[in-house]
Amino acid sequence: MIGFNVPTFIGKEYDYIKQSIEAHKICGDGIFTKKCTAWFRERFQAEEVLLTTSGSAALDMAALLCGGQPGDEVILPSYTFSSTANAFVLGGYKLVFVDIRPDTMNIDETKIERAITNKTKVICVVHYAGISCEMDTIMDIADRYNLFVVEDAAQGVMSTYKGKALGTIGDFGCYSFHETKNYSMGEGGAIVINRPEYIAKAEILREKGTNRSRFYRGQIDKYTWVDYGDSYLPSELNAAYLWAQLEHAEEINKNRLATWNCYDEAFRPLERAGRLECPSVPEGCIHNAHMYYIKCEDINERTELIEYMKSCGILCVFHYIPLHSAPAGLKYGHFDGKDEHTTAESKRLVRLPMYYNMSQEDREIIIEAVKAFFTVK
Ligand SMILES: *Cc1c(COP(=O)(O)O)cnc(C)c1O
Repeated sequence: MIGFNVPTFIGKEYDYIKQSIEAHKICGDGIFTKKCTAWFRERFQAEEVLLTTSGSAALDMAALLCGGQPGDEVILPSYTFSSTANAFVLGGYKLVFVDIRPDTMNIDETKIERAITNKTKVICVVHYAGISCEMDTIMDIADRYNLFVVEDAAQGVMSTYKGKALGTIGDFGCYSFHETKNYSMGEGGAIVINRPEYIAKAEILREKGTNRSRFYRGQIDKYTWVDYGDSYLPSELNAAYLWAQLEHAEEINKNRLATWNCYDEAFRPLERAGRLECPSVPEGCIHNAHMYYIKCEDINERTELIEYMKSCGILCVFHYIPLHSAPAGLKYGHFDGKDEHTTAESKRLVRLPMYYNMSQEDREIIIEAVKAFFTVK
C-alpha cells in the first residue's frame, strides 16, 4: 500500500530530543526553540517568529492580536481547513466567506472589495497548496480600507511571492508543523509577526498573559500577570524534532519538488488532451511542493478515481467540504456574492500521495495508475 502521507523524518531527531532530555529542559523556549525561530527570522527575513503548539494556535493568536470586537467581520475563503475560521469565531468575529479562483483555489482577490463593510477588520488569506495568493492586490485593498491581513501559510513554509517568504507579507503569518506538513514537529506551528509594535503583546499572549519573556531576557527582575493570554508555547521535545528538519530544509524542499515535477510532467499531456486539470502556479510564485492535486471532470469521476487508485494499493484523498455549507459555517458566517467556484471546484479535486523521500518506484506506480485510469476510461 502506498500511503497518502509519511511524516518527514531525517534521523537527527532522536539525537536532539535526547539532548533536550539530558539538559533537563523539556518545557518551551529552550535552545531548540531558539534555534528554530532564529532560523526563520534569518532565512525568511521575518521581524519576529514565535513557535506555537499548532498552526491553529498561531491563527488563534493572530485573530486575537488583530483586536476584533464582537460583531467585527473577517473576510476569508470558504475552501479551507476549519482552523482558519475557528480562530476568528473564538475571537468574536463574524465570518464573511468569499469565492475562490478556480486556477489556484485561493481567495479571489477581485471579489474581496465588494465584501467589505464598516465592520470589516481583517482579511485572512490561505495560501492553498503552498501557492501564494495575489498578495500585491490584497495588501493594496487592506491599505486602502485600513484592514489587517493574516496569512494562513500553514501549507506555505519555504514558498515565496515575488521573492518574499509567505507569512512575512501581511501583518501576521501562521505556519503549521503538523505531521502532514512539509516540516514537522508532530503537532506545532509558528506565528510570524511582521509589525514590531505587536511583538510584546504576542509574547504576553503566548506566555499565559505574563511578561515572562522579558524576564528571561533580563529586561525586568520579576514577572507578573499583565494581560489576557493562554499557553501557546510548544515543548522543547517538539522543537528539537523540528530543528532536525530545518537543518535539512533545502534538501526536503528539493526532494518534494522532484516528486511534484515528476507528477506534473507525466500529467500535462493528459491535461492537454482534456482528460484532467493540473495545478497552476502564477508568475512570481515559487511553491514548496506541499501538495499535488488533479481535478477530475466531476464528483462521480473523482469517486471512481479514488476507488481505482485504492484498488491499485494507492491512497488518494480529497478535501475540503466548503466551510460556508458546514453546520458551523452556517452558524457563524455567510457567503458574500455568488458561489461560482468554491463548491464546484471542491468536488473535482483529489490529492495524490506527497511526502519527503518518495521512492522513484512509487512515483512511477502512482503515475501509471493515474494514466491508466484516464486513458482506458
Ligand atoms: C494544517 C492547516 C491548519 C492547521 O494547522 P495545525 O497545525 O494542524 O493546527 C490551518 N490551516 C490550513 C490551511 C492548514 O492546512
